[in-house]
Amino acid sequence: MSAEQGLEKLAKQIVVCTKCELHRSRKKAVPGEGPTHAEIMFIGEGPGFHENEQGRPFVGAAGKFLDQLLEQAGVTRADVWITNVVKCRPPGNRDPLPDEVETCTSNYLQHQIKIVDPSIIVTLGRFSMGLFFKGAKISEIHGQMRKVSERFVIAMYHPAAALHQMALKPAIMADFSKLPDLLKEARAGMGKSGAKQGEPKKKEEHEPKQMNLF
Ligand code: URA
Repeated sequence: MSAEQGLEKLAKQIVVCTKCELHRSRKKAVPGEGPTHAEIMFIGEGPGFHENEQGRPFVGAAGKFLDQLLEQAGVTRADVWITNVVKCRPPGNRDPLPDEVETCTSNYLQHQIKIVDPSIIVTLGRFSMGLFFKGAKISEIHGQMRKVSERFVIAMYHPAAALHQMALKPAIMADFSKLPDLLKEARAGMGKSGAKQGEPKKKEEHEPKQMNLF
């Protein structure tokens, strides 16, 4: 099966998924979208009101802000893969529950990551960050590229958080503006997901503990 077919198969499973309670209240599941071998993958939290209506990720206010941030980094939506930790909207925009996160990521997100095989994963918000950096504080690690299980991951603030807390806006803008350089670094350092030779041990010691999900 080709990568395109693999992603398409997952998307078909996601739109009819009944593996957790979130399917009961959803209108449309949101599998995610982007070019099959995008170099950058963004992972948000879960669909909101507009995404639930349209079946597409980041199409509401946070999505418009994400578009601006991407433009500032010199990339467009057409260049990147965008998805979420959970594919169905939690009712009333509540936080996704641990079992919903576990079910959805093990059945879908992990496979999407493997297929797209991005050079960089950008997590948007704490749920997405928590998949890679367990117990980390976003205020301490945002904008820093770290290697997690042979992948380069950068935690960033969620665009919606920055819309609600103006004080976060300069930080998210600064982090996005670093993306082109971080991408170059990731490409040069290890190709798609290879190990960086001679990486100082010291760096790893400072890495936050990570879940072994990915
Ligand atoms: N917020 C998210 O985390 N994901 C979306 O798709 C939209 C808003």
